[in-house]
Amino acid sequence: MALALIDLTGELPGSMAPLADQFNRPITYLRISVTDRCNLRCVYCMPEQGLPWIPKGAILSFEEVVRIVEAGASAGLRSVRLTGGEPLIRRDLAALVRMLAAIEGIDDISLSTNGLLLAEQVAELRAAGLRRVNVSLDTLRPDRFVEIARRPGLERVLEGIDAAIAAGLSPVKLNCVVMRGRNDDELGDFAALTRDRELYVRFIELMPVGENLGMQRDEYVSSDEILERVRTVGELEPVFGPGGNGPARYFAFAGARGAVAVISPLSHDYCERCNRVRLSADGRLRLCLFGDYEIDLRTPLRAGATRHDIAELLRGGMLIKPERHHLRLGEAASRMRAFSEIGG
Ligand code: SAM
Ligand code: SF4
Repeated sequence: MALALIDLTGELPGSMAPLADQFNRPITYLRISVTDRCNLRCVYCMPEQGLPWIPKGAILSFEEVVRIVEAGASAGLRSVRLTGGEPLIRRDLAALVRMLAAIEGIDDISLSTNGLLLAEQVAELRAAGLRRVNVSLDTLRPDRFVEIARRPGLERVLEGIDAAIAAGLSPVKLNCVVMRGRNDDELGDFAALTRDRELYVRFIELMPVGENLGMQRDEYVSSDEILERVRTVGELEPVFGPGGNGPARYFAFAGARGAVAVISPLSHDYCERCNRVRLSADGRLRLCLFGDYEIDLRTPLRAGATRHDIAELLRGGMLIKPERHHLRLGEAASRMRAFSEIGG
């Protein structure tokens, strides 16, 4: 099968042909899970207990992550996002940000976090080269926060969001998974946050992962319905988003400083402009959000693979990246995917 080569602007460090999949999509964005562990247990993401964690020795070191990103950058990778699990529980994450920021070709480093530890780490992360952040927040009510995240912490998350704005991270996006009967009565309250502050509130359709299949069937709200309901509190105009790599569609109230968005992995064509691949905490390159399209990078890395070897493995991954995920409402996805990133 021949690889389609895409004419990307700019010269690549090491001048290798840029990564592109069989569907002519340039792959420029890597989401890196730095841990599978988390300090919350959101009902739609992880079971309360009993998850088999990845053994510590199998988790990639920062140096190993950097070697993979260097190889990617030599083949057109431009943008990385640190995620998890909860990335801020990985010790000294700022050191990784600093190392990634020093890689030639990488010009965008972002973070997805639940925000609990953000206030205390944001200054160091910013100084290390972090530019923007997505904070997950599904409710503005403390009691409900405990029900959804199965741990307390709303105050700390709100402090984290304020601290991120104060530290100059931009844009600051909030990711809110919408669940019928659980938080869908807060759509208007979330949308209102965008009127006076430069905040981008992104409503995400509930995805079926792991054990939440029944919940997803009962509580899923489509992005069309979400928009319709937000429109009951104010007229929305389609707008350009604040940049980034996501599949979100943005809308704003007249005169608002921020915007709302919907991310529709199930109901709309989420996959069409896919430019991303994922790296699991234990070094598997995942070519799609769902399905078993993956390549082990850790074994060759630890066996002494060169940057060129890793770049070739990334290139090989392009051959198995599917055109789209084939997930449908009410269908189960593999449990492993509970740790995949959805919201961006
Ligand atoms: N712990 C970090 C956080 O919560 O932002 C990063 C990892 S978390 C897996 C990344 C994103 O995936 C979050 O915005 C979370 O809400 C979203 N997510 C997790 N499970 C989901 C599901 N079943 N459906 C929709 N979004 C989900
Ligand atoms: Fe943890 Fe993020 Fe999953 Fe919530 S969504 S359990 S914060 S990894």
